[in-house]
Amino acid sequence: MMRKYPMKWILVLMCLSITAVVILQGIWLMDSYAVSKEKKQADIKKLLDVALIERDRQLADTVRILMQKVVRNKNDFGFRIFDFTKGIQIGFNNGIDNSYAMYDATSRDTLAIHKDPHVFFVRKMSDLTFSELKPLYSATIGINSYPDGSPEKAAQMKLTYFFHSIQDTTYLANAVIRTFADAGQSFIGKVRWYKDLSDIYTKKVVQPPPIKKKSAASREVFGVIPGSDDKQSLGYKLDLLQSYIDSLNVSKDSVFVSKPILNDINDVLRGEVPTVLLSVKTPYTAIGRQMLTGILGSVIALLFVGMCMWVMYNTIVKQKQLAEIKDDFISNISHELKTPITTAQAAVQGLKFVDLNQNPGKTSIYLRTATSEIQRLSLMVDQILNVSLYENGGFQLNPEGFDFKTMLNSIADSQQLRKEKQISVSVRYEAETDVFADKLHMQNVVVNLIDNAIKYSADAVSIAINCRNVANGIQVSVMDNGIGIPAEFRGFIFDKFFRVPDLNGHRIKGYGLGLSYVKAIIEKHGGSIGLGRCGESGTEFIFTLPESL
Ligand code: ADP
Repeated sequence: MMRKYPMKWILVLMCLSITAVVILQGIWLMDSYAVSKEKKQADIKKLLDVALIERDRQLADTVRILMQKVVRNKNDFGFRIFDFTKGIQIGFNNGIDNSYAMYDATSRDTLAIHKDPHVFFVRKMSDLTFSELKPLYSATIGINSYPDGSPEKAAQMKLTYFFHSIQDTTYLANAVIRTFADAGQSFIGKVRWYKDLSDIYTKKVVQPPPIKKKSAASREVFGVIPGSDDKQSLGYKLDLLQSYIDSLNVSKDSVFVSKPILNDINDVLRGEVPTVLLSVKTPYTAIGRQMLTGILGSVIALLFVGMCMWVMYNTIVKQKQLAEIKDDFISNISHELKTPITTAQAAVQGLKFVDLNQNPGKTSIYLRTATSEIQRLSLMVDQILNVSLYENGGFQLNPEGFDFKTMLNSIADSQQLRKEKQISVSVRYEAETDVFADKLHMQNVVVNLIDNAIKYSADAVSIAINCRNVANGIQVSVMDNGIGIPAEFRGFIFDKFFRVPDLNGHRIKGYGLGLSYVKAIIEKHGGSIGLGRCGESGTEFIFTLPESL
């Protein structure tokens, strides 16, 4: 019988290694999730940045066109140029009001200003960004007053209105939607903005109705935060922005980008400096979908590894059992073979010392003993040699119709005559059909079952044979009052060489071939055999035989 502990440990080790693989896979999946998430967020950040640049461009274009309408010739404004530490300051004057713009000498076209400031100004308008146009805007608004109803007045009004409505989120929404659509992303947009910074503190949120777009992998929130005091540093402004973001009830995993849209070249915020804030919720479903193949692959691979391990474990268990069964068989068979050989040897030895003519009686006893022992030996060898033949079905049946009831009764009668135990065999025959089978093999089957019943019972053996008709054949049950078969071994008793381990230490002879022979014969007849009731009070074998072969 197999030793339990080593196998148990192999199983424990297998389970541990599978668990380790599962944990490692889990860690790997979590890592790759984090990487995918970071990548997705970086992509979204890039898109949002693009959206902001696009918005700047849109605004710059609009402002440029409007300003070109207002500033049409050099008489529309006066200007002065001052030195300042980093470059020059251009002042514009309409006689009532002063405005100025600063340009860094290292990066600006200062020479052009000296030659013709108007040309410079107009050229600047055609290639400056929106934030660069801002000082020019502040210089031009209100420089000249145009007559009411004139196209200049209309353009000036439009320019003023345009800057005052800088928080108009439609521009921004359009820029974001277009950028996302171009990148193949979709979303539901929501616009937030604050009238001025003091509203951020008091959390007075003015919330326009949400803008909806088809299909929503994520939810976007974007807003424009107007600036307030131009003396505030950018750092201070960013802190303010952060506290604003914190106050938003937006998932912590949202991606934010922000940009003050009107800070000047020195990053000093001047006048009303609105800040654009865009935020997009991380699209988890999209990340999940991206990872699905990896997750499925891992699960399938794990299942596969688990299955392989299980098959390996079972094979090892089976091999181990087979090795133990083989050992058992060899020790059984050597014992079984040795007995008749020794007896025959003794008989032949005896013959040496007997005068054949003087003592014919003794001589014939010795001869009979030797012959019967050699016959027994030969029978055993035959059985062993035939067993694989029976198992593989490579033998022929010689079926005939015969009276099964008579056969059962005569076997029962002869078995009851056996002297080693007190044996009673009862036969109840209720079947009405004839049996068409190989008589000799069927006889062996029944004798084998009765022989086992006697072997594996106490001294008073009671065997009940029942035979009845079932659909398309007969069913025979052989029930004894013996020691039974422990549940854990019931699945193996029909295996070649298998013997239930002798737990009580009673040495019952046998080499585990009887039941495998019985099964082979029954199956060759197209029938089946199995255990019926089986417990401490006895064992029942039930086999069925079809009516015809
Ligand atoms: P053997 O009897 O030579 O060992 P078998 O193939 O006939 O081999 O039986 C296999 C095993 O099944 C036996 O070793 C025995 O433990 C068990 N067995 C068979 N028949 C019975 C029975 N009637 N009662 C209890 N155990 C049985």
